Amino acid sequence: MKFLILGAGPCGLGAAYHLNKLGHTDWQIFERNDYVGGLSTSFLDGNGFTWDVGGHVLFSHYEYFDKAVTDALGEDYYEHQRESWVRILQRWVPYPFQNNVRYLPDDALQECVSGLRELQGSPDSAANFREWMDTVFGRGIVKCFMEPYNRKVWGVPLESMSKSWIAERVSVVDLTRIERNIAEECDDLSWGPNSVFRFPKHGGTGAIYEGIAKPLHEKIHLQHEMTEIDLDRKLVTFSNDRIERYDILINTSPLDLLVSKCRKIPESLVDVSGDLVHNSGLIAGLGFEGTRDDSKCWMYFPESNAPFYRVTNFHNYSRFNVPEGNTDRYFSLMCESTYSSHKPEDKTRIIEDSLQGLVASGLIVAEQMERIAGRYLIDIPYSYPVPTLGRDKALAAIQPYMESKLIFSRGRFGAWKYEVGNMDHSFMQGVEVVDRLLNGTEESTLSGAVG
Ligand SMILES: Cc1cc2nc3c(=O)[nH]c(=O)nc-3n(C[C@H](O)[C@H](O)[C@H](O)COP(=O)(O)OP(=O)(O)OC[C@H]3O[C@@H](n4cnc5c(N)ncnc54)[C@H](O)[C@@H]3O)c2cc1C
Repeated sequence: MKFLILGAGPCGLGAAYHLNKLGHTDWQIFERNDYVGGLSTSFLDGNGFTWDVGGHVLFSHYEYFDKAVTDALGEDYYEHQRESWVRILQRWVPYPFQNNVRYLPDDALQECVSGLRELQGSPDSAANFREWMDTVFGRGIVKCFMEPYNRKVWGVPLESMSKSWIAERVSVVDLTRIERNIAEECDDLSWGPNSVFRFPKHGGTGAIYEGIAKPLHEKIHLQHEMTEIDLDRKLVTFSNDRIERYDILINTSPLDLLVSKCRKIPESLVDVSGDLVHNSGLIAGLGFEGTRDDSKCWMYFPESNAPFYRVTNFHNYSRFNVPEGNTDRYFSLMCESTYSSHKPEDKTRIIEDSLQGLVASGLIVAEQMERIAGRYLIDIPYSYPVPTLGRDKALAAIQPYMESKLIFSRGRFGAWKYEVGNMDHSFMQGVEVVDRLLNGTEESTLSGAVG
């Protein structure tokens, strides 16, 4: 069985890593870029700063993935305690916001707590993500944080999103616990699966995938962009006119683009692929001369005084993320903003706007703008696969058709499931689809059983 894999991001590499482990030798990866890693790659800029494509934190749901990371990095990593905060009303509130509302000024605190006490309706009957928020968090928390923050991240109307993806992604609310936190002035910080995370000492997050790809490199063909698929003859054409035959095709490129590149695909599938919605992202990497004594890892920004929804103290992840490995001389802030047709951003201004946002939100003072040592912009055309109300119907039409043609579309945009679209999920989707095809096992990540 000849496997062709499109894309050398975590998912394509997961499939290849597992094929290799199983001793199946007839496979090849074709990757559009001249580097591996996809959205999980890292870039070294001309000034010596390393940047990820947005703050990448390693979640850990799978021993198999953890082992692959260990194979790739050896001892070359740091381990960090997660520390995330929300910047709001000119103060810092520990994340998760809803458990730490005691940090808010009194009127906002009262609004949040009374909203919780007056909760009405059941989350089960909420028709969309926006309604779900109202039934879970109440008007105060929704107004203060949930609504403005999610509008900034997703860049689409929240009424157009489903609630089905939520699970552990959004920390829900326990009123008794919140009231106890307020009464006992207690910080409530430990939540979620990622309280401790590993980060490569050298080369950013991308070092993980370079490490995984290294022993496989002879079968990874860079600068090969798939441009057309002939479903009947099982042929893939690449932009350099190379043509390859497959028995099984594992696709990790965006599913809507895959559909558009399949010759003679039913028009109804082309139409329904229009219901797959994504947003786009801009990462402003801003390096500074000076030191920054701030232990926070990443910070959320719901307010409109800054374009970004999240900023990472990226020098904290590894000292080698700054020039000379010298955090006594440099620090680096990675600012993530969303753009979409509903939320346009001026790419030519985003670096400047992010700098102004850093000042407005109190992360740096105006004089530090004079000490900027590096500006780096990463444009991400496909950033978040949005879990819209129409998504599952579109997937239910497209995926079975593709599988009937022996095309298995997996990964963040290949499967288009945000709820299982992180690095570990994407890697394991690649592993599990190989296991299903060779051993007949269930794909537990894609089906939602794990993750
Ligand atoms: C802003 C941001 C922050 C994130 N933060 C985190 C985080 O904190 N933790 C976490 O675990 N995950 C995070 N992620 C998610 C992580 O980046 C993805 O889970 C992961 O990269 C998905 O892997 P993938 O292989 O499915 O897709 P991708 O990484 O998108 O890889 C797909 C590959 O396919 C290639 N390709 C596309 N089209 C073609 C074509 N026509 N021909 C050939 N090749 C093609 C692409 O070049 C790419 O290399 C974040 C993502 C973003 C955008």
